[in-house]
Amino acid sequence: MSDSVTLNQIRNFEGKYPRQLWYLFLVEMWERFCFYGMRGVLTIFMADKILGLSLSDKEANLKYGAIQAFVYAFTFIGGIFADKILGFKKSLLFGGMVMITGNIIIALSPQNFFFLGITLSIIGTGFFKPNISSMVGELYNENDARRDAGFGLFYSGINIGALLGGAVCVYLGTSPDFGWSYAFLSAAIVMIIGLLTFLLTKKSLGPIGDSPLLNITPAKRNLKEIAVYAGSLISIPLIFIMIKNTDYTDYFMYTIGPLAILYFLYETFKEKEVSARKKLLAAFVFILFSIIFWAFFEQSGGSLALFAKDNLHPDLLFFNINPNIINNTSNSLFVILFSPLFGLLWLAMIKRKIEPNTVIKFGIGFLFLAAAFYVFYYTRFFADSEGKTSLNIFTIAYLIITFGELCLSPIGLSIMTKLSPKRLSGMMMGMWFLASAYGQYAAGLLGAGMSSPDENATMMVKLQGYTDGYRQLAVYALVAGIILIVISPLIRKMMQEVK
Ligand code: GLN
Repeated sequence: MSDSVTLNQIRNFEGKYPRQLWYLFLVEMWERFCFYGMRGVLTIFMADKILGLSLSDKEANLKYGAIQAFVYAFTFIGGIFADKILGFKKSLLFGGMVMITGNIIIALSPQNFFFLGITLSIIGTGFFKPNISSMVGELYNENDARRDAGFGLFYSGINIGALLGGAVCVYLGTSPDFGWSYAFLSAAIVMIIGLLTFLLTKKSLGPIGDSPLLNITPAKRNLKEIAVYAGSLISIPLIFIMIKNTDYTDYFMYTIGPLAILYFLYETFKEKEVSARKKLLAAFVFILFSIIFWAFFEQSGGSLALFAKDNLHPDLLFFNINPNIINNTSNSLFVILFSPLFGLLWLAMIKRKIEPNTVIKFGIGFLFLAAAFYVFYYTRFFADSEGKTSLNIFTIAYLIITFGELCLSPIGLSIMTKLSPKRLSGMMMGMWFLASAYGQYAAGLLGAGMSSPDENATMMVKLQGYTDGYRQLAVYALVAGIILIVISPLIRKMMQEVK
């Protein structure tokens, strides 16, 4: 591998995918293993009365939501520092090392060091997650139509990691032969593999992800970089306090969003070209709609998990299976299977010149979301007198919601990289994930609104409560999809030559 691989050599690749995409695919796969492994054991560990933190279910759920929101909110900060000082490569290395340290610290003594380790995971993911996605975008020329397919493949990697991480860490954590330490240790080990993969392959990325400060003296640059590292470490006590007390999460969420918008507007109006400003504002519209999408989609970790626990028969086709396994794994499995196929579909449509543009893809994503929630609602017509209904229909709804995700989530990553000027690409990717933080946050509120206030309500009453809620979500998703399709000419105008 030569030292001097140029952008042109990388971007003028032949075939469907650039070779560097496979490396980033692997690195992100291991990172998501670590992240989803940690996420998978989070609530059960916190609620474990003997070897965990012995929190009440309610408290464990609240803390779970807070941690999720923080993780995604910090991507905004990680993105900005990458743009301004570190560059993507150094951000990734720093973030990865902080994540590894966090998981090792928890593994040493889960009951004592949990919150400290999670704080490090939050900071580390903030520096890692948005910046690897931005690098995928850099592999393509501005008008290369193969970019969405590339993000589709990358998205499969994300879900392979998510599926494996969730399965392995939950198995290790809950097995009497192993325990929580092993779960966190395994997350640290795979993250080390991910980081080594990155170190071994990063030369092939040439100048992609280098420091934005190559024009200043190395001494000055080092000073700034050290300030970022030190600043992140100094913020540990602050984040630690905020996740320990969930009231602070609310204050944090009330402030970070408005601050992010103000900062976004400041940077947008600093752009000299009107055309660049318009593109940034178009990106902002996608970000806003994605909040709604994630708020509905993330019912999977909340109300749909409870629905699966209480209201489904354990029969899928000819198998007997715990419905919660389906709730937790079917989405990732469907993404792994269908994401490359969607990528190939987009490529085939480009060839025939019938590929829908991004706004329409988003709109279709919402239509699938609406259809999926309609099917979740429709499960009530298959219920028996005890309020238990069909796991088969439930699984079909998951297939449909996954189609929606594939029209929106990888496409969203891709459009962020198309609409952002180079100097702001980390920040915009961070904003895309910040929207996920708000989605998570809103998902919790929506789920709480749907659950029956009476814990001892009959299954039938619970079924009706949840499915009424799902019907409403279906209607809102439909409206959002129609609005997107109706305003698509306007947004397309703002996007100019970008499709
Ligand atoms: N499942 C995807 C990932 O882990 C999308 C997450 C999100 O944006 N909420 O990257």
